[in-house]
Amino acid sequence: MHDKTTELIHHPYQAPAGFAAPQLGVYKASTVIFANTAELRSRDWKHKTGYTYGLHGTPTTFALEERLCALEGGLQCLLTCSGLAAVALVNMALLRAGDEVLIPSNAYGPSKALAEGELAAWGIGHQLYDPLQPADLAAKISAKTKLVWLEVPGSVSMEFPDLPALLRVCRAANTAQRSIVTALDNTWGAGLAFNAFDVLAEGGLGSAVVGADISIQALTKYPSGGGDVLMGSVVTRNEALHLRLKATHMRTGMGVGANDVEAVLRSLPSMALRYAAHDAAGRALAQWLSTQPEVAQVLHPALPGAPGHAHWQQLCRSGQAAGLFSVVFQPRYSPAQVDAFCDALRLFKLGFSWGGPMSLVVPYDMPSMRGKAWPYAGVLVRFSLGLEAVADLQADLQAALAQMA
Ligand SMILES: *Cc1c(COP(=O)(O)O)cnc(C)c1O
Repeated sequence: MHDKTTELIHHPYQAPAGFAAPQLGVYKASTVIFANTAELRSRDWKHKTGYTYGLHGTPTTFALEERLCALEGGLQCLLTCSGLAAVALVNMALLRAGDEVLIPSNAYGPSKALAEGELAAWGIGHQLYDPLQPADLAAKISAKTKLVWLEVPGSVSMEFPDLPALLRVCRAANTAQRSIVTALDNTWGAGLAFNAFDVLAEGGLGSAVVGADISIQALTKYPSGGGDVLMGSVVTRNEALHLRLKATHMRTGMGVGANDVEAVLRSLPSMALRYAAHDAAGRALAQWLSTQPEVAQVLHPALPGAPGHAHWQQLCRSGQAAGLFSVVFQPRYSPAQVDAFCDALRLFKLGFSWGGPMSLVVPYDMPSMRGKAWPYAGVLVRFSLGLEAVADLQADLQAALAQMA
């Protein structure tokens, strides 16, 4: 018999195996116990055949990774501590000093900031390309280009690019010496609106499928769905590429906490229903706002007349879109008046991120974000639809618009 303090740690009781419930148990570990030294020495971190250390995977993280592969049509997945960390992981794994990465000019702001900050400091160059001009991307690809980021639609400004055309440009630039990796930030599509690895089969039977090499998502948004978790994923369909990413993932210690993984696992089954509800609410209110006299332009890829609408129709054959759009107010409204509109909203809260139950707005200073190329004179506000009743949200908007006049 051991001392009772030892019994608290090495208790002989084993719960019966075979417990079954709708949700998996939550496995938490830094340390993973090996049965013997032979098992410890032969440990394999590359494949999901066993467990080696908490950072390298637990039953809980493996379960989420496999579900995300199913969602995105991928074969391998890595989890990161935020969506931005997923972007950073791809950059760190694939870029070396002297290389160059191409980023859409309307990309998620912090992804651009990472290129301007750490990547530049590490001797990695970047250029911004116009995602609405595949010829601009083609012109900016050089012998130094190792990675091309893609994002659908543009962050905040919501322009929808011709994703198959951009992917074809990258594929056409591959040579025997160098193949360009394409990485899509698929947070908006969430694996539901379109398939990142199979965006368009070209020219009939037997022809090549065009798709991204890597799809990252901020699981923070729709997969989590609660506004209470930060997590990212990096999904691939190529074992060698996955292992390059996984080596960097391990060396940089980008682990995720089991409680957060469990929260995402619990939210995933309802994601498609939530996505459809966010979409329906977004379209209804975008449509309604487009009829209001205070509004100059509604930027929602599913609305006819929005930049890239035809490309949305072509890519999202399911007809789906996320519950996000932006509104450009008439130029006669000053930034202070638009701030007053945002402050007058009661149900829409002021806050970054999206994908949770609560509707959110953020006013953006687009000329400072996009420079001279930004085409609109009025102030822009980005709307992210939650799950409240649409009639209540519309009444909230109507009351706040009345305050502006
Ligand atoms: C939110 C977001 C990210 C970053 O996700 P975090 O988990 O907040 O770091 C990256 N890309 C896009 C398109 C996003 O919307």
